[in-house]
Amino acid sequence: MTARCLLFVPVLLLMGCPSGAIDTEPIGAPGVSIDQIAIYQGVKRTLMADGGIQDSEVPLVAGRDTLVRVFYSTDVDYDGGEVYARLTLGDAVIESTPYVLLGGSADDDLRTTVNVEVDGADVGDILDWSIELLQDGEAGDANPGARFPDSGTVELDAAGEVNVLRIVIAPFAYNFDGSGRVPDTSPEQVERIRETFLKLYPVSDVEIRVREAQPWSGELQPSGEGWIGAGISLLGFRNADGEGEDVYYYGMFNPTETIGQFCSQGCLLGVTLLNDSPEDVGSPSLRLALGVGFAEQAPLVAAHEIGHAHGRAHAPCGPPGNQPDGPDPEYPYSDGSIGVWGYDIVEGELRPPTDTDIMSYCDDQFVSDYTFAAFHRRGQNVNLGWSVPMPPRTWDVITIDGEGGAAFAASVERRAGVAGEAVDVTLLAAGGAATAAVGRFLPYDHLPGGWLLVPRGELTAVGAEFVVGGRFIQVSR
Ligand SMILES: [Zn+2]
Repeated sequence: MTARCLLFVPVLLLMGCPSGAIDTEPIGAPGVSIDQIAIYQGVKRTLMADGGIQDSEVPLVAGRDTLVRVFYSTDVDYDGGEVYARLTLGDAVIESTPYVLLGGSADDDLRTTVNVEVDGADVGDILDWSIELLQDGEAGDANPGARFPDSGTVELDAAGEVNVLRIVIAPFAYNFDGSGRVPDTSPEQVERIRETFLKLYPVSDVEIRVREAQPWSGELQPSGEGWIGAGISLLGFRNADGEGEDVYYYGMFNPTETIGQFCSQGCLLGVTLLNDSPEDVGSPSLRLALGVGFAEQAPLVAAHEIGHAHGRAHAPCGPPGNQPDGPDPEYPYSDGSIGVWGYDIVEGELRPPTDTDIMSYCDDQFVSDYTFAAFHRRGQNVNLGWSVPMPPRTWDVITIDGEGGAAFAASVERRAGVAGEAVDVTLLAAGGAATAAVGRFLPYDHLPGGWLLVPRGELTAVGAEFVVGGRFIQVSR
């Protein structure tokens, strides 16, 4: 009890404190070893295991809230008292709450590790860190092994800069059935959507702005019929609003009262053009997506569709009879699972490796280390602002359906090039003159067909001829 003397001064004064009481101070916890240290900003990244620093493909995201877990083991010298972690990050010192240590640590239970929560503001470009497991005790009992590294700090570079994912939600008022029904864009629902993006995308923050609802008189069917026109409107909203090229536009609509009514015969929940070329940034014109706004489904549908706008193809998992088309051949887990331990920074919950990736069609969606790293690469290239010093050029957008039907639907101005499969196009001017151009074809992800972007020449074409998907197509303006 001598060691506790100072903690109970009032009582012990009455009792008479033994002379020669020994001061206590925070010391390396006796009988406690650090086995592993890992950080979680979405998926597990191991910093240290078996005494050695570990490399990882999982990016350290600057400015993002972080959980640090210290995995430990104990021996007979551990006295069963409370132990806390002290994380030193540069000039910042962050301490955990005290823990009574259990028999040992396990990945699947947050209570079996000593955990330090780090505010995103403390995660800078460089993480200069050390960690100690401490207990109040006498200096002579200190365990120098309850620290990593043995002395000094470890330097870990963040993989890029603080970056914010910016999204504009464009709700449609559905007038085809005369209802004028709009999806829920209340502050509470928008916050749910925002938090869903925040937990799945490796960014410092997510900002969402909601546009005024626009009337939509066409029919939007569960098969995807009618959606393309809404997508073209979305492109127009972006051009009209003058938002930066980094902003993602997300069109949302409720063609029925409930998802049960909409999906009774099976349904499409969203459509996006796969924005995977060029691989590093995709095309600014395609930073848009469409999906249903039914309150319960909207957050994950939006996160999946904007994932396609980040150039992500499908993870290979779907319910029986509904496997995703064209799954990503590079996806590392054949069952579409996330493959590693995840951690939801919004809810403060672990997610098991058996959960499935946001880019799959399966339930229990979270984010894999593979998708997390890919979102991060794209985010660093887009969210920080991206400009190419080229004069703007106008491109006509021709929509193509699965039956060879096509229409001039819109035009866009782009300073950068437009990616996509090159397609030879013959442009027909009024009077019959023909000129050759190279268009770019961008396929839809969940529907046949896609968009053909054709550079506008000196004369505005009144028609175009080209071959897409092995089919000769003629279209007039
Ligand atoms: Zn999809």
